[in-house]
Amino acid sequence: MSPLAIVPDEILSAFQNRFHSDRQPDIYRAPGRVNLIGEHTDYNLGFVFPIALDMACHIAIAPADHGKLRMYAHDLGEDFEIAVADISTAKPTSTWSDYTIGVAQQLSSRGFTLASSDLYIASDVPAGSGLSSSAALEVASAFSLLGSGKLEPLEIAKLGQRAEIEFVGVPCGIMDQYASVFGREGAAIQLDCRSLKHEYVPLPGTASIIAVNSMVKHELGTSAYRERVNECQQAVNAIKAADKAVESLRDVSLTFFEQIQDSIPAVPRRRARHVISENQRVLDFAAAAKAADLPEMGRLFVASHRSMQYDYEISCEEIDFLVDTAIKLPGVYGSRMTGGGFGGCTVNLVSPDAVDAFHKSLGHAYEKRFGKRAAFYDCKAAPGAGRLSNSFPKGA
Ligand code: ADP
Ligand code: MG
Repeated sequence: MSPLAIVPDEILSAFQNRFHSDRQPDIYRAPGRVNLIGEHTDYNLGFVFPIALDMACHIAIAPADHGKLRMYAHDLGEDFEIAVADISTAKPTSTWSDYTIGVAQQLSSRGFTLASSDLYIASDVPAGSGLSSSAALEVASAFSLLGSGKLEPLEIAKLGQRAEIEFVGVPCGIMDQYASVFGREGAAIQLDCRSLKHEYVPLPGTASIIAVNSMVKHELGTSAYRERVNECQQAVNAIKAADKAVESLRDVSLTFFEQIQDSIPAVPRRRARHVISENQRVLDFAAAAKAADLPEMGRLFVASHRSMQYDYEISCEEIDFLVDTAIKLPGVYGSRMTGGGFGGCTVNLVSPDAVDAFHKSLGHAYEKRFGKRAAFYDCKAAPGAGRLSNSFPKGA
């Protein structure tokens, strides 16, 4: 992987101050992501369409002789340490360290020897906002604990996902870790979550992608996420009665679903309708992006949002307000919630010359209605995870 341009100047000295050391750490970067369309389709083995962000998690790491992994989370001001010998039997602590220790345990179970090390972790991906700060942390952890080039990129993505499922306890799909690993400047990643093959789709330069953070944290998210995963499985079980070959919602066409939908109980039926129609929207969106058809891309954004709002039932009042207000503003092609749901961010396609007014009007309306400030992020598709240290002047 080529050295990346973005260098967090402070992390080297922050590492040295924190660990009272003049060692030169290696520095790794793993980005967050914004999913443009294809929500809750990844664990149903369907299609997703994320971009990696220039907001990223950075980890500075250097070997140490204390026999431990000693970590400091800059953004939280918290330490965590564990003896390397205890990693393979470690239990989750329900703290941020689970993401890194979960990854360390995965590496250890694949036979990699972990070195006693100090890790300084700093991220500018907002946590719990649907931009996947968790995958950024997992992928940065995997790269830093492993070093570059020891595992295929796809294996790193899978390992991060396994850590989140098995150690953190969230039954997530592969999208977030995949996007963090495979991001590309200027392009979205059209990923087939069954074959785990992707195609890069260049994005039209004639629209800005603006994420708007409602500042509502998705605390409800984990239990509801698990519930949705189960409801999709219930839908699959019901559909199997009509066609034994169906193994996931990915196998079901919209036409077939419409023919047999009465045989599915009401709630799983709505969940299935979202997933099946969303898979088609991803394919339609990719075609519209290739044709630089912004009105069609915007229409699909809004259709996706309505499907999440009414069929998947994962939106909330603040997010619906952001979407409904945004789509009435000049120069806005479309708006939808992005990420797991119950808060977090919307993603908006906005004509570049309308971005300032969009920011002002939407920010003002949101503050007036909910008494809190939304944050706005101009999202540019950025490269995937890699090592940064090459661009560091030695001895700086
Ligand atoms: P999302 O992935 O949408 O940001 P998650 O709930 O999946 O939300 O992950 C958020 C969690 O990831 C945080 O609660 C924290 O445990 C961990 N995390 C994210 N960023 C950091 C960070 N900079 N430092 C330490 N832990 C972090
Ligand atoms: Mg996450």
